[in-house]
Amino acid sequence: MRLVLFLLTTFSLITQAQNNYPQDYFGNPLEVPLILSGTFAELRSNHFHSGLDIKTQQREGLRVISAADGFISRIKISHYGYGKALYITHPNGYTTVYAHLQKFAPEIETYVKKHQYEAESYEIELFPTADEIKVLKGKHVAYSGNTGGSGGPHLHFEIRNKEEHTLNPMLFGIDVADTTKPTVKSVYAYPLNDSSTVNNSNKKQKLRLIPLASGDYTTENIEAYGTIGIGVETNDRQNLAANSNGVYQIQSFLNGNQNFEINFQSFSFDESRNINQLIDYEHYTETKHRVQKLFNQNNSLSLYSPELNNGNLIIADSTNSIYKIRILDFENNEAWVTVNIKGNKTSSVKTEEKTPYYIYANQSTNLKAGNVAVHFYPNTFYENFYIDFNVKNDTLTLHKDIIPTKNNFNINFNVSHFNDADKNKLFISRLVGRKNNYPIYTETKRVGDTLIANTKYLGSYTLTADTTNPTITAVNFKNEQWISNYRFLKLKIDDSGSGISNYRATINGKWILMEYEYKNKTLTFDFNDHVSTETKNNFKLIVTDNVGNSSTFESVFYRKN
Ligand SMILES: [Zn+2]
Repeated sequence: MRLVLFLLTTFSLITQAQNNYPQDYFGNPLEVPLILSGTFAELRSNHFHSGLDIKTQQREGLRVISAADGFISRIKISHYGYGKALYITHPNGYTTVYAHLQKFAPEIETYVKKHQYEAESYEIELFPTADEIKVLKGKHVAYSGNTGGSGGPHLHFEIRNKEEHTLNPMLFGIDVADTTKPTVKSVYAYPLNDSSTVNNSNKKQKLRLIPLASGDYTTENIEAYGTIGIGVETNDRQNLAANSNGVYQIQSFLNGNQNFEINFQSFSFDESRNINQLIDYEHYTETKHRVQKLFNQNNSLSLYSPELNNGNLIIADSTNSIYKIRILDFENNEAWVTVNIKGNKTSSVKTEEKTPYYIYANQSTNLKAGNVAVHFYPNTFYENFYIDFNVKNDTLTLHKDIIPTKNNFNINFNVSHFNDADKNKLFISRLVGRKNNYPIYTETKRVGDTLIANTKYLGSYTLTADTTNPTITAVNFKNEQWISNYRFLKLKIDDSGSGISNYRATINGKWILMEYEYKNKTLTFDFNDHVSTETKNNFKLIVTDNVGNSSTFESVFYRKN
């Protein structure tokens, strides 16, 4: 019995090590060659990239086709994030996702618009049943675009499993030529406890990087003592694109023994935010460069190989060690970095900056001063630390945005000292910019005399009043104009204070679908929606900002039928 169990375990380990994903089941979702502007799990702001970004020849409107047979299982349209997105579920249990679409193929577009008009909302989420919209592999389902949080025309493509974990599409045989090694931009060494040092210092050290002709690297030799860790800034380039993408795997070895590994194969969306603890977050917020720590500090990310050590290096006095980093791209091109470490005990001891407020990461904490209260739930942070906290003239200083949060926390401002008219115009803003003087809206709720913001960032917060109404400007028409040949009605909307919360447009009192593109602040109505058959039409648009200021725009236009 024991033998059988042993064999079974061994067998399953072997099969897991190989690639079990169906190969060549999924085809290219575009009819142009696959060139990537983004790879799977690439490091992004607060998240790992969840799929491949496929280039669309710098334009919108390329035909997007189903990667395999299946049915459309979900359609989601949002102003931000994925913009217009389509989900196709396949008989093998996987779901493919196509995002930032310009529009859907005609039958799907009709289906979506019917629901948008019923719900009177551009933003919508639909879950068609398995027999509603079936598709075959290669079926035209949409046009590529730039909707939502997209920085330029491209197709975002994902493959998810039944558990909604997103997987590296390259594991399914989607092949992109890559014959060059990953490149290394910088290497850092971190003393990890009070008595450890690197080059006689208890602060992190940037190591001088020496590129070799082979494409590998060494660094300056270092002296160290105690528990230290290494971090690396690295990326990879594919053959047909000049842009830098993410790498596939990073391993590290101390004196030939592997002690750390991170694999960019799959993850679940709820762990994506842990990227902020994988990278040197302080370095990132200060320089926008992402250094990946090759040591795990209380991070539950499933990308780490759990059977290995946590990557910490324990350097004893009077020793010589060789530390190596191996960085691989998906095509197995590998770049090595070698760091020679000499153990040298020094008496340098870290002096931590103490404040009156200590955070125990696994406990809840309430901080209160003046009219401000801050509430941290247990596990808001990864580590214990002294937090800087003070309140002056309705401005809260809550440390600096140099420590990552695992979960959001609440900031409450009591506003009872404002008169009623002013209270209604206030929101909680986060102060950003070099001088900490540029307020940006933080989603604010009001309960009685308390304003509540839920945020993921430490930093400075204050109360800001928005007393200006949104602006509305017609782009391609004037009042009392004949516009019989127009396909679209376009307007620009903006709000300088708290930002736009919602908008509602009607023609002759009937709701019309206006697509909102926040990047160019444009609302667009398509006359092919055939809302009105009248000659004389009254157009009305109401735009409301996040504190409730609203503007109304009215205009008459004429159309021949
Ligand atoms: Zn993407």
